[in-house]
Amino acid sequence: MQVLWICPKCGRGFANRNQSHSCSNVQLKDHFVGREPQVVQTFHRLLAAATKSGPVTVLPEKTRIAFQVRMSFAAFTLKRRWIDGHVVLARKLDSSRFTRFEYFSPGNQLHAFRLLEPAEVDDEVEAWLAEAYLVGEQKHLSPARRSARQR
Ligand SMILES: [Zn+2]
Repeated sequence: MQVLWICPKCGRGFANRNQSHSCSNVQLKDHFVGREPQVVQTFHRLLAAATKSGPVTVLPEKTRIAFQVRMSFAAFTLKRRWIDGHVVLARKLDSSRFTRFEYFSPGNQLHAFRLLEPAEVDDEVEAWLAEAYLVGEQKHLSPARRSARQR
């Protein structure tokens, strides 16, 4: 496993050397100020769901909170009454709950959604996070090896 590159300014670790990002001193609790309690609870449910796949680095940025393994695989912006979030998947997934889709590359396809309360972090959302976690681990980058093993 490769060693992460650590940004000397903000101390965050990245898979790619000199990964572009915005260094920040924002703390997680700053994102909870002025938010309805159910919004904060929803965020904690999301984090708990994501960590079912393994350890997650939580990166509070200026306008959003990113979940990262080697790469960021999900990010959430806490509003007063809801959360706008997205997961990064290595395919286009259809769900009526997605509000926006953006294609960046085969391994980087953004699926955005909005959540209002903790109960919305259900099996479907957990499945999105579990699939996105694999993207965060960059395991999807070796499909040739995977298909070779299946034979
Ligand atoms: Zn930095």
